Amino acid sequence: MTPSQFQQAVLNWFDRHGRKDLPWQQDINPYRVWVSEIMLQQTQVTAVIPYFERFMASFPTLESLAGAPLDKVLAHWSGLGYYARARNLHKCAQTVLEQHGGEFPRDVEALAALPGIGRSTAGAIASISMGLRAAILDGNVKRVLARLHAVPGWPGQTAVARQLWELAETYTPAERGNHYTQAMMDLGATVCTRSKPRCDDCPLAAACEGHARGNPQDYPGKKPRKEKPVRTATLLLLECDGDLYLQQRPPSGIWGGLWTPPQLDEDDGGDASAQEWLAARDLNAAQVQALPPLRHTFTHFHLDIAPVWIQLHQRPLQVAEAGGGWYKLRQLNRPRAAQELGLPAPIAKLAKQLLALQAPLLADSPAP
Ligand code: SF4
Repeated sequence: MTPSQFQQAVLNWFDRHGRKDLPWQQDINPYRVWVSEIMLQQTQVTAVIPYFERFMASFPTLESLAGAPLDKVLAHWSGLGYYARARNLHKCAQTVLEQHGGEFPRDVEALAALPGIGRSTAGAIASISMGLRAAILDGNVKRVLARLHAVPGWPGQTAVARQLWELAETYTPAERGNHYTQAMMDLGATVCTRSKPRCDDCPLAAACEGHARGNPQDYPGKKPRKEKPVRTATLLLLECDGDLYLQQRPPSGIWGGLWTPPQLDEDDGGDASAQEWLAARDLNAAQVQALPPLRHTFTHFHLDIAPVWIQLHQRPLQVAEAGGGWYKLRQLNRPRAAQELGLPAPIAKLAKQLLALQAPLLADSPAP
């Protein structure tokens, strides 16, 4: 299959089957395409749509995003995970404003030099929103090209990535680059899927080496397995009259800028250490109870969380002075409250659990 036959097959398929009604495909401009591309990294289209719409309602322009407090941006990201993306998004908006007069540069290399924008995202912004000829190589495109040419090896290896980039560059057309880019992403997401490629519906089937060999699922090669390390942490769920104490985390590190209960890191030892923590602050708890542990998995490690529910008779001044605040469990459990405040998913889950434990106690108290 020559590059032009390939392009024709992909573009014909796009005309008939490609997605054309996604929110970021309307009112196309570099800002909207950039935000959607960052959200779509690591996240499925259906999950992204409501986040994108809320984000655009609150930050309709690059200037509004650059001028917003980081907290507010993080709150809009809450639940999407990979929060470094949101921090970079904010930083990138400010950089574009300060260094490029508020306009994204019309050049792939300059785009790729901006915070949080890699080569493939730069290619997507340039081709979809600027009409430039620019290749992309996101996870979907890697899969299609690796199968089409039966490229062995894991794309995280430099030599494999280089080979796939060469293919991506070769196939990218000079015209209709915006449709081609969208088509390749759609083809990977809807036809050449990870575990069950629908080769019978694929416009590339006649030329596909992976399909001909009968083992398309073997491409691209998998990352060599490496066990993720496990870290542990004790979370102190300080609760007083149905209110939970939360502190804002430092801007960098896990859950940067989000709100969580005080945390004791590994080797601090569950509820025994919670008692020590209380004693060190001269606090008397009405009750200290270990809750069932839960695991949250980050990109590079698992975090085994040991939650400890600490019921207090009164709100201690010392903890409030540490930069936190008290939040009503009922309010934390309202729809969208976790997103609005900026609660990581496991903390929202614990707040729900705590409210259920509290229910009998709160049944007679007036609603806030
Ligand atoms: S023929 Fe099958 S394996 Fe090959 S690109 Fe199409 S869907 Fe993927």
